[in-house]
Amino acid sequence: MTTIIVGFPRIGEHRELKRITEKYWKNSATQPELLEAATVIKEKHWDIQAQAGIDFVSVGDFSFFDNVLDTAYLLNIIPNRYRALGLSDLDQYFALARGYQEGEKSVKALPMKKWFNTNYHYIVPEINDTTEIKVTGNRLFDDVALATSKHANVKASIVGPFTLLKLARYIGTKQAADFAADTIAAYQEIFANLNETRIAWLQIDEPALVFDLTDEDKAFFQDIYTQLLAQEHGFKVNIQTYFGDVRDIYSTLVALPVEGLGLDLLEGKYNRELIKELGFPNDKILFAGVVNGKNIWRNEYRKTITLIKSLSVENYILSTSCSLLHAPFTTANEPNLHPDLLQHLAFAVQKLTELKELDTILAGNGDKDLAANEELFASVNHPFDANVHARIDQLTEADYHRQPSREERAKIQKAEFNLPELPTTTIGSFPQTADVRSNRAKFRKGEITRAEYDAFNREKIADIVKFQEEIGLDVLVHGEFERNDMVEYFGEHLAGFEFTKNAWVQSYGSRAVKPPIIWGDVSRKEAITVETSAYAQSLTDKWMKGMLTGPVTIFNWSFPREDITPEESVTQIALAIQDEVLDLEAHGIKIIQIDEAALREKLPLRKSDWFKEYLDWAVPAFRLVHSKVEPTTQIHTHMCYSEFNDIVKAIDDMDADVISFEASRSDLSLIEDLRANNFETEVGPGVYDIHSPRIPSKDELVDIINEILAKLPAQKVWINPDCGLKTRGDKEVIASLVNLVAATSEVRGKL
Ligand code: GLN
Ligand code: ZN
Repeated sequence: MTTIIVGFPRIGEHRELKRITEKYWKNSATQPELLEAATVIKEKHWDIQAQAGIDFVSVGDFSFFDNVLDTAYLLNIIPNRYRALGLSDLDQYFALARGYQEGEKSVKALPMKKWFNTNYHYIVPEINDTTEIKVTGNRLFDDVALATSKHANVKASIVGPFTLLKLARYIGTKQAADFAADTIAAYQEIFANLNETRIAWLQIDEPALVFDLTDEDKAFFQDIYTQLLAQEHGFKVNIQTYFGDVRDIYSTLVALPVEGLGLDLLEGKYNRELIKELGFPNDKILFAGVVNGKNIWRNEYRKTITLIKSLSVENYILSTSCSLLHAPFTTANEPNLHPDLLQHLAFAVQKLTELKELDTILAGNGDKDLAANEELFASVNHPFDANVHARIDQLTEADYHRQPSREERAKIQKAEFNLPELPTTTIGSFPQTADVRSNRAKFRKGEITRAEYDAFNREKIADIVKFQEEIGLDVLVHGEFERNDMVEYFGEHLAGFEFTKNAWVQSYGSRAVKPPIIWGDVSRKEAITVETSAYAQSLTDKWMKGMLTGPVTIFNWSFPREDITPEESVTQIALAIQDEVLDLEAHGIKIIQIDEAALREKLPLRKSDWFKEYLDWAVPAFRLVHSKVEPTTQIHTHMCYSEFNDIVKAIDDMDADVISFEASRSDLSLIEDLRANNFETEVGPGVYDIHSPRIPSKDELVDIINEILAKLPAQKVWINPDCGLKTRGDKEVIASLVNLVAATSEVRGKL
């Protein structure tokens, strides 16, 4: 038995899970229909793994929304306000994930956070002093029963106790340690339940071990596992880590009485050193994460074989570096990609084959596979652009600094724009309703002409401009109806990008993104947003924000090439977007928002790496984009995350004039971080959560604005939702924004 995966994508080859789940949410599918569709998906994915020759099929990686929520739910970590709704089990689960609003009943969703350094989001479990951690759910056991009824070799997975307690949010006085005993007992009960099944392995996911660990963390981990593993179990246990190395706890891990240890040997490069220097015990099996679960590229077999051999580990199973959740489904549905590129791609399904072929090669029977792979890698040929390289060579320090200082600019801009206090605005997109999507679909299928497509979008823009004027927003947007996606849209106008038809990757719940592929050197092929923004500005006397995606986000939300450094790729993209910024400015757009929604998510997991491995080039790349604009041009940026904590200074160093960010789903805790760090950039902390359909009331918004003003000076505050509105429906957006403007007026009146 020599091949396994950490997990498989759950959304389905054609995003079946998304479709049926969203139907269910809209009451156009029943619960039995949803459950039946889920079963079909699970069974299909197990069959795919089995047919590819993977030795164990994975169960427990499926989820109706998120795996962390699943584990919390299984363990009864369900705040009372959700129980009080009196919903069915599944609806209660969805209420935690998405919030609930029906008649009098109204509860917000739990906070959502980026999953480590990925673009996947997990639901943050909420624990209060009365939370009783015990096994109450049965979805995992049902899935295990189904899988073991169909397949002989099954591996189940679950989020581990250490990671669960580390990621949870404690809103009472009790902390993680206070829940250790109950948590251990609950996992022991899970063990007992699984003892009744025929699973071969239980994979306990403990990715939180790749963070910097304190002595207290280490003791806590050891304590939990010493007790937990004292329990008899009729299956083998693998403690699985990913996204980094376990340098702080390696010695403890290899000494634990478990049968397997899962290490990411790619992102966790240092794990290789740990194994070589400290050894790996012969009585354990290394789950060797050698096939990249995050990228889309073929595995270079020669390198992988050399790596495996260099470790001198006696017992190992070949695995993926992390769950394939982060990779698209299959390259088989990509008829439009050039064969030159296609042959270098491996999505989830192809990665299964790679594991199998690597296994064959290591067993000494794979000469043909190895030769074919070597030939493939000898032929890589990324499109090269000498102009792009020349431009980068000529950059000097001055290209990275805007003049005059932000303080000077703020004065100039106050006079220039003459906005009221607490200016209101939105983050950019308005609902991508059925008509917007069907217009795009028709254009894609060639059913309407470019002119017809544009005409429709222009009408939408005119409507939304009028709407924003009517309700009294101060700085308007055009609504982004022409954009399928904030990265793909830009990529389509940039040389060096390639697009797939079906390379979807789950982002959160039913939402998936389809990142473009960076395959060649990047430059701007033509003006991208200029015509649209200028048109929108022509419709109103108010200020129209130009709307761009920043270089770091374009890079982070694309599948990057791996033959040049991230820094070099991002600099190429920054120069392309700089061209667009200056073009917008030349066409009369005086407020330009450059979204860096994804800047934070690629922050290295260990603090010691934050600057040298990332921020030291990511922040300058953003400055490069806007350094050449006039003082009277106001640069905004937007970030989709709620944890600035230690990078507040770095965010200020981006030297934007205004920044808006997600805040509402994290209880505005970051406002305090901004205050404590004397944040200089003007800020629009999102005053309500757009990830949920719930409509915030005016009074609730007044309270939130007042909370913000208690910490930040009114002259520096903007009022806006916490992200773009494209995923929402018209009705809730209208009601929410009307309340937002009314709440702002009320607060302004009392300033
Ligand atoms: N301007 C984008 C929008 O409104 C920002 C999206 C994002 O932050 N993810 O859709
Ligand atoms: Zn956002």
